[in-house]
Amino acid sequence: MQKFNSVDELVNTLRPVDPVYCIRPNSIKAACNWFKKKFPGDVLYAVKTNPNNKVIKLIGENGISQFDVASINEIKLIKKIFPNSKAYYMNTVKNREHIQEAYENYGIRDFAFDTKDELQKIIEATNNAKDITLYVRISISNEHAEIDLSQKFGALPSEALGLLRLAKAHAKKVGLSFHVGSQCMHPISYAKGIRDLGNLIKKTKIVPDIINVGGGFPSIYPDLNPQPLESYISEIKKAFENLKLENKPKLLCEPGRALVAESGSSIVRVVLRKKQKLYINDGTYGSLFDAGVPNFVLPTRMIPNGRMTSKKLTSYSLYGPTCDSIDYMKGPFILPNNLKEGDYLEIGQLGAYSLTFRTKFNGFYSDQIFEVQDKPIMSMYEKDLASRYLVA
Ligand SMILES: *Cc1c(COP(=O)(O)O)cnc(C)c1O
Repeated sequence: MQKFNSVDELVNTLRPVDPVYCIRPNSIKAACNWFKKKFPGDVLYAVKTNPNNKVIKLIGENGISQFDVASINEIKLIKKIFPNSKAYYMNTVKNREHIQEAYENYGIRDFAFDTKDELQKIIEATNNAKDITLYVRISISNEHAEIDLSQKFGALPSEALGLLRLAKAHAKKVGLSFHVGSQCMHPISYAKGIRDLGNLIKKTKIVPDIINVGGGFPSIYPDLNPQPLESYISEIKKAFENLKLENKPKLLCEPGRALVAESGSSIVRVVLRKKQKLYINDGTYGSLFDAGVPNFVLPTRMIPNGRMTSKKLTSYSLYGPTCDSIDYMKGPFILPNNLKEGDYLEIGQLGAYSLTFRTKFNGFYSDQIFEVQDKPIMSMYEKDLASRYLVA
C-alpha cells in the first residue's frame, strides 16, 4: 500500500480523478492501545466494521488479536491473516452449514444465540460438542444509540432465563451478552445492560463465565460529541462491581466503530456545484452510506490547492455520482463558500462502516486505498483536534 505523509501530499501528488480512501495506522494504534489499557477484560474487534486486510493486520499488530465475526467469510478472512487468532461467531442467526464448517474447519468454539431454535442448530451442527462456549444475547434498551439493534437481536429477559439454563446444560462455558446499539451516546446504557444481566443471574442462580458488553462505544462527529470513553469504562466497572459476584466472570467487549472510525477518510472531488449543492464523485453507494439515510454529519475540509480559500464558511449538502435520488447526503457539511468544480475535499470519520458498504452501482466504484501519517480531522483520543469542527 502506497504511503504519504499527509492527505494534502497525496492529493497534490496524484490529483485523483476518482475518490480515494486513506487509512491512518497511527489512529488505529492509538485506539487499540487505549482499549487494551483501559478496558478491564478482553477486547475483540468487530470485523464487519472494516474488514480491509490492512486494517485487520493493523488491529492484530497492535495487540488486539481476538475477533467478533458474523459470517463464515469473516472467519475465513481472519484465519487467513492471523491463523492463530481467536474468532467468536457472535451472529445470533447462522446457517447450520456455516456453524459446522466454523466448528470443524476453523476451530471456532464460541457461539451466540438468542432463541431455542438457534441453540438446537448449534448443538446439532457441532454434533453435540462439549467444548463450546455459548453466549445468550439479551435485548436491552438502545435508547441512547444512533443505530438501534434491539428490535432485531436479543432475547427478552423472560425468554433469557430458559435459554441460560439450556446453555448451561450443553456448554463447557456460558456467557451473557448484549449490545447497547451503535454510536451509543450515553454510558448509562452499559450499566443498564449489566444490571439486566444481574437480574438474570439472580433469578437463575447461574453465574456466567463471561459477560460480554458488546460494541457501541462511540466516535466523535460534528454533531455527536460524546462523553470521554473513560466515562464508559468507569460506568461498566461500577455496574460490574455492583453485581457483587464472588466468582467474577471475565469481561469482554466488541468495539468496532471506536477502534477504527477515525482511521479512515475519503478524498472526493467536486464535479459540479449548484449553489449549496455539491455534486461529488463519491456517495451513499460508495464510501458515504452513513452520511445518507442514517444522516451522520461527517467532518469535512477543503484540501488547499494554491487558490485562495475563502475564510467564509457555508453549509452544503452533498450529492453522489449515481442516478438515484437517495444518493444524497444532507449534512450540513461546513466548507469554504468559494468551492468550485475540481476542488478536493477530505471527508473524515469514515474508518467504520464505509469501505465495506461500497457497491458498483451505476459503474461508480473506486478501490484506491493509501496510508497517510497525519492526524485525523476529529478524534476521541485527542479531543483538542475536534473543537473547531463541533457544531455548537
Ligand atoms: C456491530 C457489532 C459490534 C460493533 O459495534 P460498534 O457499534 O461498531 O462498536 C459488536 N458486536 C456485535 C455483535 C455487533 O453486531
